[in-house]
Amino acid sequence: MIRALPKNVVERIAAGEVIERPGSVVKELVENALDAGATRVDVRVDKGGREQIEVADDGAGITRGDLPLAFAAHATSKLEDVDDLLHIASFGFRGEALATIGAVSRARIVSRARGCVDGYAIGCEGGVVGDAEPAASPFGTRVTVRQLFFNTPARLKFLKSDPAEAARCLDHVIAAAIPADGVAFTCALDGRSVLNVPAAATRRERIAAAYGDTLARELIEVHRTLDGLHVDAFLAPPRLAKARSVHQDAFLNGRPITDAGVRAVVKQAYREFLAPQLQPAWFVFLGLDPADVDVNVHPAKREVRFRESQRVLRALHHVVLDALRGADLSARTDGAGAWTPSLPSRPFVAPPRAEASPRTETIVRTFGTAEAPTPASERSPPGECVREVAPLFPEDRPAVPAVPEIAPGRFVRAFDTYIVAPSGEDLVLIDQHALHERVLFEELRRDVLAGAVKRQRLLLPQMVEVGRSRMARFDEVAASADRLGLELTAFSPSTVAVHALPALLARARVGDLVEAVFDESRPLDAALHRDQRELEERLHTLACRGAVKAGDVLHDDEVMALLDAASRLPEAKACPHGRPTSVKIPRGDLDRWFKRTGF
Ligand code: ADP
Ligand code: MG
Repeated sequence: MIRALPKNVVERIAAGEVIERPGSVVKELVENALDAGATRVDVRVDKGGREQIEVADDGAGITRGDLPLAFAAHATSKLEDVDDLLHIASFGFRGEALATIGAVSRARIVSRARGCVDGYAIGCEGGVVGDAEPAASPFGTRVTVRQLFFNTPARLKFLKSDPAEAARCLDHVIAAAIPADGVAFTCALDGRSVLNVPAAATRRERIAAAYGDTLARELIEVHRTLDGLHVDAFLAPPRLAKARSVHQDAFLNGRPITDAGVRAVVKQAYREFLAPQLQPAWFVFLGLDPADVDVNVHPAKREVRFRESQRVLRALHHVVLDALRGADLSARTDGAGAWTPSLPSRPFVAPPRAEASPRTETIVRTFGTAEAPTPASERSPPGECVREVAPLFPEDRPAVPAVPEIAPGRFVRAFDTYIVAPSGEDLVLIDQHALHERVLFEELRRDVLAGAVKRQRLLLPQMVEVGRSRMARFDEVAASADRLGLELTAFSPSTVAVHALPALLARARVGDLVEAVFDESRPLDAALHRDQRELEERLHTLACRGAVKAGDVLHDDEVMALLDAASRLPEAKACPHGRPTSVKIPRGDLDRWFKRTGF
């Protein structure tokens, strides 16, 4: 039964604009379908949603008598009085979405309620509701919204390009589809199928359908109830963290939410494993008694208020941290977060030996020296003189010196990670990855700005899966990738084919480069013209992917070539991510360590 809400309830409901753009229409219609108990939801979006949005479901349907009320403001079947506001389990409850949509478009509902022999249709154009008339319909409801904002041209002006609006629409479908266990979803953009989630899909399979198998396969999964909070979490291992925005989605009782507290707490839990500028992907599903939540804070209902937010957030932090600590992080490789953000200022200790496996390193970073068992490398083996020596990085010396001149051939390589060489009165240690990244970055920037990136063609195109959601932005991304020398074509609704890559980055894994260009939220062209720093950040990411890694075996002539290129750099003080490229140990310090001077 749809009823008009009593005035006092209306007043208690936060007012606000519900329909800002095509994506908002998709969101409201999909939520209505789920509220109606649908087990399948089919979404079509044409021309970014400007032309037409259609959402069809197999839910409870709307009876003939209720149809005219569906477009009426503050009419809802989901809420009767003020008390109900305190325990809302459905998505909708304000009864204003369809009214608002009907006011700014040419909308039509065709529906057949369960158990009814006939279906009925009703239209609404610019707020004028027509009469209900019989129409053939399967069980369920189909809402079609055409020419959105036809009577509010100012609104139209604020819309982005069709692909950008379409991508937002798809994001809303995905946000609804991921937590909706047991519900099948499809989405087509301009007739092209971009999402297909069967009803039986698991959470992980839903994440895979939306964002690609590569990420979904690696997610650390945890299910736990703590302090009245149920948490189902899917957490990317830290080594997959990115320097750019990634999917970090929180859901509360099946509803996507944006909550600063939740984000902060998950970030905090990852902090022990990650450099601060790296972003891990995560999907966190929270289950909480609806009485402990106030969802009515935000017009689009994405913000919630926990009644006992401290308790909830503490429990969440605990669950995520435990999961990360318990997961096997030892497989991680160089790069993503495997370094400490600031240079150590503790006394020099003997370099790690064989015991200092990656696992040990993880433990050190995870628990901090206070809680951790002292790693072997920090214990003082009997007879080794490790105390009372000068700090390795005294405060008064620049911690990140430029790469100094090294005579040809006078270096050794250590641990396939560092280059060690005397230079003047210093002993120099160079991080091969950091330095190569810097070199690539400078050369790439020069070539991109000159519009002269050299390409290397692939004999056979290489396929890279990027996920359906990101494919919605394909045209935009491909155009800007092309400026970088990365040639892409669309191969399938979730896969790109790579035909050429920038010659400078020929060493990179093709998949990593594609990831990097799809990660960017704005097209490179815009970055080029708008913001020098943004361009640089992107080139940093690419350079990082293309650079040799710690552990890569380099030949002497490769080291020579690297040092040679570095010597021509304008400034090679730090790798673009802020790590030092080299560290100098003055000969005087060595002499003091060996008690040659100073007493
Ligand atoms: P709300 O969802 O806040 O109740 P809406 O304006 O979105 O408000 O919808 C108004 C009413 O129309 C709903 O309360 C519901 O009864 C009915 N309705 C809308 N969409 C559907 C649907 N897909 N299936 C069944 N009923 C629907
Ligand atoms: Mg609704």
